[in-house]
Amino acid sequence: MIIICEAKATEAQIGELERTIRGAGLDIHRSDGEEYTILGVIGDRNRLDMGTVTLMPGVREVVLVTSPYKLASREFHPDDTVVRVGETCLVGGMEVAVMAGPCAVEGEEQIEACARAAAAGGAQILRGGAYKPRSSPYSYQGLGLEGLKMMRRAADRYGLAVVTEVMTIELIDTVAQYADLLQVGARNMQNYPLLTALGKAGKPVFLKRGMSATIQEWLMSAEYILSEGNPDVILCERGIRTFETATRNTLDLSAIPVIKHLSHLPIIADPSHGVGTRRFVAPMARAAVAAGADGIMVEIHPNPDKAMSDGPQSLTLEEFGLLMNRCRIIATTIGRRLGKTR
Ligand code: PEP
Ligand code: MN
Repeated sequence: MIIICEAKATEAQIGELERTIRGAGLDIHRSDGEEYTILGVIGDRNRLDMGTVTLMPGVREVVLVTSPYKLASREFHPDDTVVRVGETCLVGGMEVAVMAGPCAVEGEEQIEACARAAAAGGAQILRGGAYKPRSSPYSYQGLGLEGLKMMRRAADRYGLAVVTEVMTIELIDTVAQYADLLQVGARNMQNYPLLTALGKAGKPVFLKRGMSATIQEWLMSAEYILSEGNPDVILCERGIRTFETATRNTLDLSAIPVIKHLSHLPIIADPSHGVGTRRFVAPMARAAVAAGADGIMVEIHPNPDKAMSDGPQSLTLEEFGLLMNRCRIIATTIGRRLGKTR
């Protein structure tokens, strides 16, 4: 249940409402929007008489939320959520954020070259895996803590924020020391203990869509993080499994407007994992910006043929620069601004 207060509701009236809700043994998530204050009632709504609440002073409307996610729903939070990542990057507002970097951090020189190209192209956030979730235990697993340190140093040299994956609860504190945005990989989207722990991590979370997850399941995962008190969740569409084998995954571009309709959370597109082949990355990145994505995440590498992971889908540094120029034009056309303005 969501209680929308009148625009002129006084603090005393809202306080009385809150006391009534708590008195029924329910919890409240309050959201103060530009016009209205909205109280999200958390718990078994049968404990509260809807008719009584509707008639209380200061109440404009009582809405029964039909979706199983509440805090993630647009009904509860009509305004777009804007998440601050690092010192200056805002995700979910008029800027279209750009996250670029290698699939995995491989060494000082490689991450330095990527950070330089990312910043030169106008990206705000450096991506790169230090702890990699690989399908094979024999594949490159990442540099771990050393990789985190290298990425942080490279990012700091170019004024970039850092996003990187945290695979386990035990790693949260370590990763949070070096990263500005904590990535939950597709394979962990339904790792509920991890999501719960990230809800208390005090850093924004980048929640990738599970490869076979419905949009509802994805938003329920976001709900796990939000319900622990962390309001800063950014969603990432990274492609889903379909019958199609021509591409690594099927980038579900329709998820962008659907998420925008259902939720207030920012949504980023990751065309690299979405298609898995370099030649298809740029058109899908452009399409994602046109479809209203709040940002793109792109894998880049100074020498993709020699990459330790995901080389076939990594853009060269030059290709990334070209992509940024094109995406900037599309962003401007739809009244937004791409990446960092310099
Ligand atoms: C990644 O971003 O490097 C990654 C492993 O992505 P996903 O979890 O979407 O496969
Ligand atoms: Mn990758």
